Amino acid sequence: MADPGQRDLLLYLRDLRWRDVDCSGPPSGPDGRVSPADGASPDNLSDLAQTASTCRACRLAAGRRNVVFGVGNPKARLMFVGEGPGAEEDARGEPFVGRAGQLLTAMLLAMGLRRQDVYIANIVKCRPPGNRDPEPDEAAACMPYLRSQIQLIDPEVIVLLGRIAARFLLGLTTPIGSYHGRWMQWEGRQVLPIYHPAFLLRNPAAKAQAWADLRKLRTVGKPAAACYSRRDECSHAGPFPGRSSTR
Ligand code: SF4
Repeated sequence: MADPGQRDLLLYLRDLRWRDVDCSGPPSGPDGRVSPADGASPDNLSDLAQTASTCRACRLAAGRRNVVFGVGNPKARLMFVGEGPGAEEDARGEPFVGRAGQLLTAMLLAMGLRRQDVYIANIVKCRPPGNRDPEPDEAAACMPYLRSQIQLIDPEVIVLLGRIAARFLLGLTTPIGSYHGRWMQWEGRQVLPIYHPAFLLRNPAAKAQAWADLRKLRTVGKPAAACYSRRDECSHAGPFPGRSSTR
């Protein structure tokens, strides 16, 4: 069953005549984390990915080829969250592998990071048809997966890629131009919204601003890669604004 807050939202959306709203949502435990079929909370990402692989909690299940769960370091200190898989991601079962993904990979390399140093996921795990934006009820149905991923990975910083991720995680509905690059909080975690790589492909002039935003992730006096790739190898204190210790 969905947690009470999510269930209320789904019922509300159904009352607004959103079609195909499944008010059960993906199975979740008392803390809102998704539970596998046996009722136990997943204690690793593999269990969670296995649960997601058969999920049919929203209408996006109907058109998917693969559930695009997420990829990267399960102990990453830096997590990137986009909106949802596109055609290439749907075909390959991996997020951010199309042209926008190649740009994201290049942005990571520019920061001294490889894809395997961070964790990359999306708001929804199945491809919206025609690459449309995810609907609110689809995002709500899928959110327990992302919430569980965040709880299991426990990143220090979440980078939101684009307005859709910011809308569904932070509730922001104003244009991303008004808040990109600003440090925000989500459930006690540092969150940094930046432009989506697909937007940067369409608007190359914004790349300089995106790079300025990404530079905010660099730690004082320490290369980003050294601090972000593996938290157990980092002894640097205070890598982010307002934080006094590392995990
Ligand atoms: S988008 Fe999420 S909630 Fe919807 S079917 Fe896919 S995994 Fe399940």
